Amino acid sequence: MHWNTEKHSFQVIFQAVNILLQIEQVVYMADFARLRQRMVAEQISARGVRDERVLSSMQKVQRERFVPEEMREIAYDDMPLPIGSGQTISQPYIVAYMAEALALRGDDKVLEIGAGSGYAAAVLAEIVAEVYTIERISELAESAAAKLREAGYENVHVLNADGTRGWAEQAPFDAILVSAGAPIVPDSLKDQLAIGGRMVIPVGVNQRAQELLLITRRADGKFDCEDLADVRFVPLIGEHGWEVDGDSVEAGVPRVIQTRPSVSQTLPSLILRNSESFESPDDAQLQSLLQRIGDSRVVLIGEASHGTSEFYRIRAAITRRLIEDKGFRIVAAEADWPDASRIDHYVRHRDTTPSEWVAFARFPTWMWRNTDVREFVDWLHEHNTSLEMADRTGFYGLDLYSLYNSVRAVIDFLDDVDPALAAIARWRYGCLSPWEADPAAYGYAALTGAYRNCEQDVAQMLTELYRKRQEYSHKDGSRFLDASQNAALVANAERYYRIMYYGSRASWNLRDTHMFETLKRVMEEHGAGSKAVVWAHNSHIGDASATEMSARGEYNIGQLCREAFADGAYRIGFGTDHGTVAAASDWDGPMEIKAVHPAHAQSYERLFHRTLQSGLILPLRHNQNLELIGELGQPRLERAIGVIYRPETELASHYFEASLPRQFDEYIWVDESTAVTPLTTGELTGVPDTYPFGV
Ligand code: SAH
Repeated sequence: MHWNTEKHSFQVIFQAVNILLQIEQVVYMADFARLRQRMVAEQISARGVRDERVLSSMQKVQRERFVPEEMREIAYDDMPLPIGSGQTISQPYIVAYMAEALALRGDDKVLEIGAGSGYAAAVLAEIVAEVYTIERISELAESAAAKLREAGYENVHVLNADGTRGWAEQAPFDAILVSAGAPIVPDSLKDQLAIGGRMVIPVGVNQRAQELLLITRRADGKFDCEDLADVRFVPLIGEHGWEVDGDSVEAGVPRVIQTRPSVSQTLPSLILRNSESFESPDDAQLQSLLQRIGDSRVVLIGEASHGTSEFYRIRAAITRRLIEDKGFRIVAAEADWPDASRIDHYVRHRDTTPSEWVAFARFPTWMWRNTDVREFVDWLHEHNTSLEMADRTGFYGLDLYSLYNSVRAVIDFLDDVDPALAAIARWRYGCLSPWEADPAAYGYAALTGAYRNCEQDVAQMLTELYRKRQEYSHKDGSRFLDASQNAALVANAERYYRIMYYGSRASWNLRDTHMFETLKRVMEEHGAGSKAVVWAHNSHIGDASATEMSARGEYNIGQLCREAFADGAYRIGFGTDHGTVAAASDWDGPMEIKAVHPAHAQSYERLFHRTLQSGLILPLRHNQNLELIGELGQPRLERAIGVIYRPETELASHYFEASLPRQFDEYIWVDESTAVTPLTTGELTGVPDTYPFGV
C-alpha cells in the first residue's frame, strides 16, 4: 500500500490543532459531567435515594446553568447557593429527596411553587410529562424561564404569580412540590391535587425551620399526611402563606412567561395553521373533510390502536356522514366474517339465519365488543329501519381468523340447501378438525410433513360451492354470499397457518390480500358504483409503500385499494400522544387498561403534540402548503399499538418509520385519548337474535 507520509503528518498536525482549539470547552464540559456523577454518587445515592428516574434526571440536568455565573465552579457542591433577590437554589440532595417522595410517573402533570432558579423544575421536567412552576418574584421568574428555554426544556410553563393560590386553570395535578416553607398546608393547593395525587411541602410555625410533609389525596376526598424530615427553606410568602414583608411585595397580575421557543417558524405551528382543530372528538366539524373525500368510492379509516375510544367515535361520526350524505352502503371492518355477519343481520333487519357464531368472543374481544361500536351498530339499525333492503347499509368482516367458525357456517348452510354436499364437506373439512384448539400447530405439522396437508380438501369445497352457484343463489342469494365467503376464508386461513412459518411477510400479505378480495366481493355484490367504508388499523389502511413495511416486502389493503381505485381511495389515519388504551400484555392475555406513554421525541406524534391542541384534522392530499408537506414527508417514527401494548419496550415494539403525507390522505390527531369500554362477556350470553351483542 502506498503511504503518503507528508500528507499524513500534515493531517495529524491539523487534527491536533483542532483538538487543542476545542480542548478548553471539552474539559469544561467533561468536568461538569464528572462533578455531576460524583454529586449523584456521594450526595444522593449514598444518602439513600433509590428512584432510578430521579437519579438519572439528576445525572442529566446541568445545574451549572441555573446558578449565577460566578458560582458555576461550585454548582455541584453539597449546599444551597444564593440566586439573588434574597433567594436560594436548593441543595441537590433535597431536590432529589423531594422528587423521590413524590413517586413521579412519566405521564404526570406536576406543579411546583417557588421556581427560583428553575433547577428543580428542570429535574422534574426530565421525569414527567408537564411541569407548571410559579415564582412570585418577577426577575427570578423571567430568568428561570430563560434558563429553562436555553436548556431545551419545552415541557415547563413558568407563571409569575402568588403560588399559594395554585394554578387553577391547569389543575388537577398528579404531584405538587412546594419549594418554600409554609405556615400551614394551603387548602388552595390541596384542592388542586388529583385523586391519588401527592404533595411535598415544608410546613412550620417558625420561618426558619419546618417539617417536610407528604400529603396524599385519597379517593374518598380525605388526605393522608406523613412527616418525612426536618428541613429549612426560605419562606412561602403570599395570600395563603406568610404575610408579605414590606418591600419585597411583588404586585401585579399573574402572567405566564413563555419557556417554549416561539412556535412561529416551527413545524408544529405550520401544522396548526393548516389544520382544523377541535376540543372534543364529539364536536369535530367534518364538513370540509367530507368535501375533500369528494366522490371517492372507498374511504379507509384507521386507528393508531385497537383500544382507543376517540378513534372509534370519530370514525363512527365520519361513517355516519358518509352513509347519510354520500350514499355509502358498506361498512367493512377488520373483524371476522361470521361475527360481522351477525351484526349485519341485525342492522339490516334480515330474516335469513346468520352464520353460526359467538360474536367477537375470541381474543381480542374488546376490539369490537365495546360501547362505541355498539352505539354505532344501534344507530345503523335505526337508520336502516325505514329504508328498502337495497338501500340499507351492511356490516362486513374482512379478516380471516375465524377458520373453524367459518367451517361450521359452510356446513350449516349446506345442511339446509344441499345435505349431500354437506356430508362431503364434513369429511373434507374433517382434515382440519384435530387442530381446532391451535391452528398454528396444524400449519407446523403440515409444513414438516408430520401431518397431511388439507389444501386440496378446502380448495375443493370452494370449487364445489361455486359450481353450484346458480342453484344456490336462486334459493337465497345473500346466504350464498355468506357461505361462499366463509369457504374462501377457510381456504385462505388454511394457507395462512401453513405459511406463517415462512416468516411474517408472506402471511401478512396473504391476510391483507384476503381483506382486499373480500372487500371487492362485497362491493361487487352491492352492484356497480357501490361505495365502502373500511375500518382497520392504520397499519392496514395507510399505504404500506410509504412505510418501512415496504422494505420488508409487505403490502396492505390501503396500498391495494390505492392501486385499484387510484384517487377514488381516501385513507384517513389517526394518532395520539398519551392517555389510556385497552390492550393485553401478551397474545390471548387478559385486557388491561394501560397508560400510553407520551410519544417519542423523534415521532410525528411529538410534532402534533407540540401544537398544544386537543384535536386536529390535517388534510394531506389536498394541502396546498408545499413547505408543510415537504417537511412532513421526511420519514419519522410513528407509533402503532395493536391488541398488545408493551410500554417497557415501546421504541422497539411500537414504532416504525413512515412518511405521513404518502401514507395517508388525511390525518386526525387526538392529543389525549382514553381506553374503550368493553362489553363484559356476561352480556354475550343470552339471545343473539334480538341484539347483536346478546344484551
Ligand atoms: N426550586 C427552586 C428553589 C427556590 S427557593 C430552585 O430549584 O432553584 C424558593 C422560591 O420560592 C423563591 O424563589 C421564592 O421567591 C419563591 N416563593 C416564595 N413564596 C412564593 C409564592 N407564594 N409563590 C411563588 N413563589 C414563591
